[in-house]
Amino acid sequence: MRTSVVGYPRVGALRELKFSSERYFKEEISSDELQTIAGNLRSTHWNTQQNHGIDFIPSNDFSFYDTVLDTAVLLNVIPARYRSLALPPLDTYFAMARGYQGANGDVKALAMKKWFNTNYHYMVPEIDDNTEIRLAGSKPFDEFEEALQLGIQTKPVLIGAFTFLKLARFTGEKHTNDFTEAIIRAYQEILTRFHEQGAKWLQFDEPSLVHDLTHEDILLFKQLYSAILSEKGTVNVLLQTYFGDIRDCYEEITGLAFDGIGMDFVEGKESLELIKTKGFPSGKVLFAGIVNGKNIWKNNYRKSFRLISELHKHCSHIVLGTSCSLLHVPYTLLNETKLPEKQKCYFSFAMEKLNELKELKEICLSQSPLETEEYKKNAGLLKGDRNCSNEKVQQRVRKISESDLTRLPEFAVREELQQKSFGLPCFPTTTIGSFPQTAEVKANRTAFRKGSITEAQYCDFIKEKIFECVKVQEEMGLDVLVHGEFERNDMVEYFGECLNGYLFTEKGWVQSYGTRCVKPPVIWGDISRERPMTVEWSVYAQRLTHKPMKGMLTGPVTILNWSFPREDISLKETAFQIALAIGDEVLDLESNGIRIIQIDEAALREKLPLRKSDWDREYLSWAIPAFRLVHSRVKPETQIHTHMCYSEFTDIIPAIDNMDADVITFEASRSDLMILDSLKENHFKTEVGPGVYDIHSPRVPSVEEIESALHEMLKRLPKEKLWVNPDCGLKTRQYTETKLSLEHMVQAARRLRNEAV
Ligand code: GLN
Ligand code: ZN
Repeated sequence: MRTSVVGYPRVGALRELKFSSERYFKEEISSDELQTIAGNLRSTHWNTQQNHGIDFIPSNDFSFYDTVLDTAVLLNVIPARYRSLALPPLDTYFAMARGYQGANGDVKALAMKKWFNTNYHYMVPEIDDNTEIRLAGSKPFDEFEEALQLGIQTKPVLIGAFTFLKLARFTGEKHTNDFTEAIIRAYQEILTRFHEQGAKWLQFDEPSLVHDLTHEDILLFKQLYSAILSEKGTVNVLLQTYFGDIRDCYEEITGLAFDGIGMDFVEGKESLELIKTKGFPSGKVLFAGIVNGKNIWKNNYRKSFRLISELHKHCSHIVLGTSCSLLHVPYTLLNETKLPEKQKCYFSFAMEKLNELKELKEICLSQSPLETEEYKKNAGLLKGDRNCSNEKVQQRVRKISESDLTRLPEFAVREELQQKSFGLPCFPTTTIGSFPQTAEVKANRTAFRKGSITEAQYCDFIKEKIFECVKVQEEMGLDVLVHGEFERNDMVEYFGECLNGYLFTEKGWVQSYGTRCVKPPVIWGDISRERPMTVEWSVYAQRLTHKPMKGMLTGPVTILNWSFPREDISLKETAFQIALAIGDEVLDLESNGIRIIQIDEAALREKLPLRKSDWDREYLSWAIPAFRLVHSRVKPETQIHTHMCYSEFTDIIPAIDNMDADVITFEASRSDLMILDSLKENHFKTEVGPGVYDIHSPRVPSVEEIESALHEMLKRLPKEKLWVNPDCGLKTRQYTETKLSLEHMVQAARRLRNEAV
């Protein structure tokens, strides 16, 4: 019995990589300095895993930004526009990740998408007709060698050829089939190189296999791997899957020459069943993903042991592993000094999960597993009551009826009423909510938290910021204003802190994209609202202007999706509890004179099950009603906005329309505008603000660029329904670029209005 880790977090327990990369971007440190810091992190991570007795320690799971981007660069998939900047390799890489605007040119970043059903984002590789796929880098080999030098034989990890091709965007005439030969050669070469370097195992990550697969997909997969594996030499190849089960291709996979197959037993509903009914090849090793790589609750050893025993009936070689990369959980509980022990004892972060693997291995190897100390301690803990329920809340949820989920009057009636009462110009301009969270804002919050300024001082400071923010927006001529969200560290954590039932970590950072990390709160118990959470700020902001001030809330599905959820009650139940609390806040805003309320559902699409057949039953059937529950009680004149990051909801447009918001803003600038065609086809009723520029990059769009984006939108949308806004909140941006960009946006909207008359 051995243990394996699919991948380890890389930003550093104290986000060292984030801070040093950001210093590198600001030219405060050199690339050599950045490389040194990165090397130190890698060695820390390898050593930690080795000290925990992990047998299969990953390498090449490190990345300066994203491992899909690393794979693209490794395979020479670098679009010409980045090459022609003629920057050093690391800077070309960052230009692909973040865009580049400077002496060598002006290019946007590659598109970015959510990594399967997680809140991690990957960069979408772009393949055009001139792309020549070949092995063009040495990162995996260098990192393997680096670990060897430290005395650690690692298991290099690479995104597999199938998943790479499935995630890539083909921008020319050529498609997958035109590149299979080249990609096979590249991966064969990778295997040969590792063979020469003496690697014993190599892991190919193929999470795309847990999707619904077509016949062509399966053929492609077989074609790729029967060829790639013919060159494997003495290297053992592990096919690693995660985030679900591989029911569509189990037989094909087990029939290929893989030496190990990694399956997810946490999210893979049918994983066990597959093995039971179809068997498992005796010569292969099963890498059983048993320790949850996505959630932070302690592993239940009783359940795991039972599962392992069951698996042992069918497989003789089992390696215990994480269900997916530990990238999705924070580093360690060691840095949590404030969580009381009686709660902390229920959790397990990345490092503690290493320990769980070790303990599970010991339990399995023991003569009398159920008598081991580890087992008994774990069983004792998980048998007890956590004392986290609230009868009142549970009762309220039980009483929810169909009428609580329906807003009246119907959309068209409200739309007319609202258009009259607000009297906004055509193509109203607005923003998504947050304004730059400057160093000053963050410093003040830290000072307040540490007690070095009083609450009154902190509030005054926030009000000052709101005042400036409103003034800036008025000067720029925006139509619907926001207060700027300066009081919020994060759109979910803020609400979590105001609600009962939540717990917080101090250093529980998880990478979201590149240098951006989030600190998901933990849902500990039943959720309830004690008092208004945002009313004071919104009301203060509204008093400063005659223009409508948008109240700004985060919706129940997003709060849930960006938290670590409970595992003892259903997601639906938790979503409804949160919806009731946020709904009370909506009514408080309304009764205090806020006439437009935005309820962000940035993460709605994120937890859509990976298999279409599960979409409705397992998710949409409660997620959409939870959103409706939040706003069903408002007056017809109150305008409800929602915002979603990413425009990838082509396939759930009716569900989105069914949220019954009055306006929806969403990301559209990084992807093409196909979504708008689909809105039209589906007779989308909700008014829309497809983001006109990309806020994930510091680049400033020109007036012409925005204007032409708007023209494209108008080809597909009726002009009465079009709003003009950036594609997301501005909190990660600097003030200078934000101001310029918004000014350009307002000018573009004005030009359009002039043309329209
Ligand atoms: N209102 C939030 C903001 O502007 C929305 C953020 C998001 O969609 N991720 O920051
Ligand atoms: Zn957004």
